[in-house]
Order: sequence, then C-alpha cells, then structure tokens
Amino acid sequence: MKVTVIGTGYVGLPTGVGLAELGNDVICLDIDNDKIETLKSGKLTIFEEGLEELFYKNTENGKVTFSTSFEESIPQADLVILAVGTPPNPITKEADMKYIKAAAEELAHHLQGYTVIAVKSTVPVNTGTAVEGIIRKENPSADFDVISLPEFLREGFAVHDFFNPDRIIVGANTEKARALIAELYAPFKDKCTILYVSRQSSETIKYASNAFLAMKIQYINEMADFCETSGADIYEVAKGMGLDSRIGAKFLVPGPGYGGFCFPKDTNAMAYMGKFNGVDLSLIETTIKSNERRKINMAKRILDMVEDIKNPTIAVLGSAFKGGTDDCRESPALQIIQILLAHDVNIRLYDPKAMENTKLLLKDAVTYCKSAYEAIGGADVLAVLTDWQEFKNLELAKIKQLMARPQIADYRNIFDCKKAKALGFEIKSLGRRL
Ligand code: NAD
Repeated sequence: MKVTVIGTGYVGLPTGVGLAELGNDVICLDIDNDKIETLKSGKLTIFEEGLEELFYKNTENGKVTFSTSFEESIPQADLVILAVGTPPNPITKEADMKYIKAAAEELAHHLQGYTVIAVKSTVPVNTGTAVEGIIRKENPSADFDVISLPEFLREGFAVHDFFNPDRIIVGANTEKARALIAELYAPFKDKCTILYVSRQSSETIKYASNAFLAMKIQYINEMADFCETSGADIYEVAKGMGLDSRIGAKFLVPGPGYGGFCFPKDTNAMAYMGKFNGVDLSLIETTIKSNERRKINMAKRILDMVEDIKNPTIAVLGSAFKGGTDDCRESPALQIIQILLAHDVNIRLYDPKAMENTKLLLKDAVTYCKSAYEAIGGADVLAVLTDWQEFKNLELAKIKQLMARPQIADYRNIFDCKKAKALGFEIKSLGRRL
C-alpha cells in the first residue's frame, strides 16, 4: 500500500517506519524542513528503543522516504495518516486544531483517486466530521473517506507497541475504508482485536483511555502517600490490588506525578469537552488538580531536606518525563526543577538521553553534567526524578563518598532503602516501609 504520514514526530516517525517494515511504501511528510533534512541525511530526530535499526533498513531499501512537499507526497497515496500535534490551548486547555486544519486544507488539493484519510492525532470528538468538511470545501470532487485511527503507543516503547498492539481501534463510517484498514493491519489480525466502531466512539475511546490511565496513576500515588502514614508498603498493596483482574496490575507504580505530551493535555482536553457539552467530569478534573499538587509536594519534600543550608546543591537525576525517551514535554522532573529553582538552590543535572531537549527549556539555569556521578559530586541532596535503568545500577557506597550530605529523595524507588539507611543515608522514597 502507498502510505503518506503527515507529521514526523514521536508518533509519525515510528508509525511510518513500522508501516514500511510491514512492506508498505511510505512517505513521511513534515513542514519542518530541518527535521526532514536531518532524516534525509540518515540521522534520527528522536530517541526510541529499536527505531534506529528499522530506520536504517527501511531508508536504505527505499521503503520509507521523507518530504516537505504535499504536491509530491499526496496524489499517489492510498492512505494518508494525520499525525500532527494537537497541543493544548494555553488558556482554555482545549486541543488546538490548527495543525490538523492546516494539513487537511493543504492535502485536499492534491488528492487523486480514492484515498482514506486516517486521523491518528488525538483529537476532540467530531474532528473527523470537521476534517471531512474542510476537504470537501477545498476540493468538492475528491473521492475520500475520513476515519479515526487513534494511537496508543507508549513513548520509549513505540516500536515494540507498533508491532505488538493491545488493540487497534478503527472509527470508520464506510465499508470501503474499513476494508482498506483491514488490509493494512492484516499482519496483526491474529495478534490483537481490531475493533471497528463509529468515528465518534473511536475519538472518545482515545481520550477516555488516557484519562482513565492518568487517574489510575494518580490513584496509586495517593495510596503511596497513605502508605507512608500507615506503615503499609505500596508495592505489597499494589500487588494485592493488581491480582484482581477487574483492576489489573499495570500502572500501579508510584512516582512524582504523571507527565509527558499525552496525559496532561488529554485530561485537560477531556475536561474541557465535558464543560463544553455540559457534562460533569469531576473525576477527571480532580485528577488534574491532584497531579499538579503532587509536583509541588515533591519539590517541597526536597526543599525540607536542605532548609538549614544556605544556597544548597541539589543533584537531579533525570529530566525526561520517563525512562526510555528523550521527551521532556510536561515532564514532572522539569516541573519539580522549576519549583526548586524559584528558591535559592544550585542544581546539577544529568539525564542519559534528554540533555539536548532539557537545555532548550532550562537554558543556563542549571549545571549540566556528563554522568550521574558527576552530578552527585558535592550535592546536599540527590533527587531521582526519572526511572532510567542506568540509575538503578548506581552504587550507594560511591554516592555516599561523593555527596556533601548523604540525603536522597528517591521518587522512582530505585534504591534499596534498608541498604541506604545502613550506609547512613537519610532517604525519602514513595510509599515504602523504611
Ligand atoms: P510531535 O510534536 O512530536 O510531532 C508532530 C509533527 O507534526 C511535528 O514534526 C510538526 O512539524 C508536524 N506538523 C505540524 N503541522 C504540520 C503540517 N501542517 N504538515 C505536516 N507536518 C506538520 O507530536 P507527537 O508526539 O508525534 O503527537 C502527534 C499526535 O499524536 C498528537 O495529537 C498526540 O496527542 C498524539 N499521540 C501522541 C503520543 C505520544 O506518545 N507522543 C501517543 C499517542 C497519541
């Protein structure tokens, strides 16, 4: 199949490369000229486990190519996938549709023959209808169907998730479009459920799923807080809860708050849609507020550990929103760092993959270090904010030697608390019996 993916970011690039690996001829189209030039020169623009190998293979054999031209990329396509950003409006927090609208207007002029336009971006309910209207207006004679094809990949596992989806949701209103998608995903038909629903249901499934997952994370975070006051251990509690198949074991891991490009913006967008439609979505609204408070609380716990020190030094491990990605968008780590920076502190920071993205956001507000141990040198507190595997291999005895004061705020629960205490550390972790 000839596929054009519009938007070559964290979703579009792994999707394009994955579809090429399945044997399709893919063009990845983006308006960002630098991004496309970098990709054309054989370099990746994002870090995703396993992407590099597939990228080289499928660019070398010509199955995936890159372009900034709609004119070159749209006419021959059987399927056009929209994977442009839908960032939050800074004031209302609703999903901003300007990139979807611009891409739909532009692609409309170049459609030739029957084409399915699949909206993979996370978009408010009835966006499919709006996109259909835009294309009809721009090109009344075009032969096309607009479908909803939401993306459920996890950053850091994008390649794995592409080839091993839990489910594929297809919101299509015509048989012709369904048949094309059935052909595209034929390699997965025995691997997972491919659920065909209406466009509106499909659009809602994406937001309803993300809001539920955000709520689940915040729920276990609140239970971790409770465990700290009750003598219970959050891992024992989570295990006991997760054995109930109605609850499920995944996403019951405490942390410094949910973040990333999806959960914060999608919960906000869903809350906005609730208000717009006059529906009480107070569970989601509470989740959003509670997650915001959590990051303030996390920063406060660190500041409490250095309140008697003038101009203290805090070593921060991790700025990506989670391990396995270089993505810092809405990272709880960065939000905690920003709160700390409002006080009189020095921050020494290290992240294995996200330093470049971090520098764009934090500029010279912190000291950037080349390794975890370099960041830890001379620090009064060590704060672990991202769950990188690399941090789990650090040696507590060496950390103790390097620090000015043996204090750890372990917000990813990577260290053995008993061992840390035996070595003389004061350690704050989440929901664990110390
Ligand atoms: P991104 O910002 O990484 O990539 C979007 C790309 O679209 C950018 O490269 C941008 O230059 C390009 N673009 C914008 N307007 C364009 C246009 N008119 N024509 C061509 N290209 C254009 O965003 P992302 O993280 O890949 O997210 C894309 C969508 O997928 C969003 O709606 C997001 O909510 C959704 N989503 C993201 C994830 C995730 O983990 N990142 C997971 C599921 C769904």
